[in-house]
Amino acid sequence: MQRVTLKDKTFVPYITSDKISASVKQLAQKINTDLVNDMPLFLVVLNGSFMFAADLLKEVTIPCEISFIKLASYHGTSSTGTVTEMIGLTEEIKGRTVVVVEDIVDTGVTLEKLVALLTKKEVKQIKVASFLLKPEAYKKDIAVDYVGMEIPNDFVVGYGLDYDGLGRNMKEIFVLESK
Ligand code: 5GP
Repeated sequence: MQRVTLKDKTFVPYITSDKISASVKQLAQKINTDLVNDMPLFLVVLNGSFMFAADLLKEVTIPCEISFIKLASYHGTSSTGTVTEMIGLTEEIKGRTVVVVEDIVDTGVTLEKLVALLTKKEVKQIKVASFLLKPEAYKKDIAVDYVGMEIPNDFVVGYGLDYDGLGRNMKEIFVLESK
């Protein structure tokens, strides 16, 4: 693995694709065991989690459905500030087990908003699968049930994650070079 430069930043190799696939397989096995009787709906949060979701769901062998959403944030006219909206969900999710599929959970602000939106729709239970988690940054109470890898509070790219739109296609994960 070579270092890569994306726009004005240089990134160094961090997690190899072999390590990524080993942890994705382990995670899928846990899901296969835990949710075998739940007929879960996997809700893949675009864009970042497309690569993780594809790898994960190839290893998920239990009956399930898969759907894709995007989160859009805008400043509402009320004093509450930013409003988050879920776009693309067409399935009826009331009473279902929903597995949120995320690329990375950092502070957890995004996850918290998504879970609030799903809770309003009266789902049976929400499980969260995130390939990466930054425990030092994560301060929310929502359980991240399935985590591929925990990483320090550094900025990473690749395996679906971007820097200013670039780097999502890289099959390994790179971290910002420390100066
Ligand atoms: P949150 O802080 O709400 O948990 O994370 C918000 C979003 O920031 C994530 O979904 C992801 O898109 C982005 N993010 C957080 N940490 C990183 C990182 O290390 N690299 C990249 N590329 N995006 C990140």
